Amino acid sequence: MNNKPTIAVIGAGLGGAAAGALLQQAGYPTKVYEQAPAFARLGAGIHLGPNVMKVMRRIGIEEKLNAMGSHPDYWFSRNGMTGEYQSRIPLGEFARENYGAAYITVHRGDLHELMVSTLDQDNLHFDKRLVDVDDSGDKVVMTFADGSIEEADLVIGADGVNSRLREKLLGPEAPIYSGWVAHRAIISAEKLKAYDLDFEACVKWWSEDRHMMVYFVTGDEKEYYYVTGVPEPDWNHGTSFVGSSREEMRKAFEGYHPTVQALIDCTESVTKWPLLERNPLPLWHENRLVLLGDACHPMKPHMAQGAAMAIEDAAMLVRCLEEVGAENYQQAFELYRTNRFERASRVQQVSHDNTWLREDEDPAWVFAYDPFEVPLKQPTSQ
Ligand code: FAD
Repeated sequence: MNNKPTIAVIGAGLGGAAAGALLQQAGYPTKVYEQAPAFARLGAGIHLGPNVMKVMRRIGIEEKLNAMGSHPDYWFSRNGMTGEYQSRIPLGEFARENYGAAYITVHRGDLHELMVSTLDQDNLHFDKRLVDVDDSGDKVVMTFADGSIEEADLVIGADGVNSRLREKLLGPEAPIYSGWVAHRAIISAEKLKAYDLDFEACVKWWSEDRHMMVYFVTGDEKEYYYVTGVPEPDWNHGTSFVGSSREEMRKAFEGYHPTVQALIDCTESVTKWPLLERNPLPLWHENRLVLLGDACHPMKPHMAQGAAMAIEDAAMLVRCLEEVGAENYQQAFELYRTNRFERASRVQQVSHDNTWLREDEDPAWVFAYDPFEVPLKQPTSQ
């Protein structure tokens, strides 16, 4: 008989899917609840550093991702106007040898679909928006927007930047609009063949107050992707993203290098997203409730490590439950927080400052990290 506590994960984003998969693998009866009616393939890319690939190895999808993704040999940083190289960060074979796994870039939708496929499909529930939790008894009672009520011993809030669980723990507070937006577009590499230009596998074009990060999202290099950071003082759209246009892109990147102009010329469809943050939270868990990922440390995406932190959180949370025994869940949650707070807050800060790999630096503190192997720090109160 399984004596492990029942666990509910709220949100089947990248952090929630990782948590669900690792918990189910470790034998916890786990249900995942997602508000979206179905899985959707958002047109965007994502970097998966060696730190994340080590978690994917545990989940059992590392090889599939290696086959699916693009494997850049370098992260290049270049001056947006002149094209001059500011940094050349070795990835490829160097990453595999020195950080313990590959550095890949993939289509976010392909990654998400693969991660969600690793969950027990009978315990994955779409169209379930959590509206309330009552954590006053022996079980947590969850109420969903469709009127249904469910119970679990422990509840993990992996419900993103506008987390309902965070609100329950800390009260209502909107995330901070950073004053920057991100444009996102996927471009057919076929179109780029018309240009006598080199389109590198992973390159960030910089100027003082803005940038454009560009990479392939498929191993066959047929889909190229850009994501920007551009200042925009206000965000009054009230939605998580809006449409943008080639004209808006031309204006934002006027004077940029011909390679960037070619990307803009080849843009068929582009969206614009507000970049949201929160200051480090004073509370990550209380009683039977615990947060992970953007629910507790949303950040600007300028290190390409937001989802990575959510996935590392998931791995560390499961490790801590196993370490102290899930019956000691409050101890496990505090051990988890102790081992994640400093790293997540540092990544939030560097992302905010947007300095990551702008010049040559050693990225080992990010990429070599392994949430399953890093020595655990004990909470100071123990
Ligand atoms: P989310 O992915 O937001 O998932 C939360 C889930 O919870 C969603 O599916 C949502 O529908 C669901 N949900 C919300 N509320 C409820 C509710 N009440 N009930 C039930 N379900 C609910 N990170 C990287 O690591 N690499 C990158 O290259 C990268 N690029 C980025 C580019 C941009 C432009 C942006 C904006 C972000 C980028 N990030 C990147 C960051 C990354 O997207 C986030 O940090 C990551 O998605 C956080 O994962 P999460 O699971 O915590 O939250």
